[in-house]
Amino acid sequence: MRLANADGRAVLVLDDTTGADVATASEGKFGPEPDSALRDWDAFLAWASTADLTPDTTLDPETLGCPSPCPRQIFAIGLNYRDHAEEAGLAVPERLPPVFTKFVTSLAGPRTTVVLPSGGNTDWEVELVVVIGREASHVPEHRAWEHVAGLAVGQDLSERVAQLSGPAPQFSFGKSHAGFAPVGPWLVTPDELTDRDDLALSCSIDGHVVQSARTSDLLYPVGRLVSELSGTVRLLPGDLIFTGTPAGVGLTRTPPRFLQPGERLTSRIDGIGELTQVFVAAPRE
Ligand code: ZN
Repeated sequence: MRLANADGRAVLVLDDTTGADVATASEGKFGPEPDSALRDWDAFLAWASTADLTPDTTLDPETLGCPSPCPRQIFAIGLNYRDHAEEAGLAVPERLPPVFTKFVTSLAGPRTTVVLPSGGNTDWEVELVVVIGREASHVPEHRAWEHVAGLAVGQDLSERVAQLSGPAPQFSFGKSHAGFAPVGPWLVTPDELTDRDDLALSCSIDGHVVQSARTSDLLYPVGRLVSELSGTVRLLPGDLIFTGTPAGVGLTRTPPRFLQPGERLTSRIDGIGELTQVFVAAPRE
């Protein structure tokens, strides 16, 4: 099942351009907001599995939003691919990799225009994003996937000057400018995927591939990550986890290379879909 946020309304995706409005199809039992489905996920799945769906919504990528637009918590994981830790010149984590947040107002839909902060160096990080469907607290790894509603493509856009300046890094702050957390194009339930733990992910700038990897290379794959996080923090339905990025970011290139006005960044995960961000300069003050 694929669940989209079409202009603020929960829509079950029938094909890439057509969906069925959840509130209409369920006669108001679920929806219209996507959160109403995520917060009652078991009942929603039971209803959706037998629902009689009529195509009544055209899916316009420009008006799709984050499939979980109001998460109570957003987790982001650093250094969760060996090759990215190595390119950054940092030790490969032996325990849970660094955990930070992207503040909720940085969330956006799959196809957006993003303002580049003036005086900053904005970088790309394609990531698999996990959407939590059932509350999770002290969940063992072998049961962790039961708490996952679905997966989406995410970009952990990162302004590196703020992120790395000062006596302690400002990860959360430098990664939370407006529109710095596009997620989409929709939530895909794990049963739709051939192997939920081995997905090809990539991103390209104006058609030139800059990152290409597989989620089977994650140091902490989804199940282990959900289990470990839930050992400290109670995970809530609708919460998002940005699972980390593979090698190929701009910061570690020689010379470093950052996003420029007019460039188009496309982020893709096989079996889920893609995001497209176009960048513009900040207006002169
Ligand atoms: Zn990241």
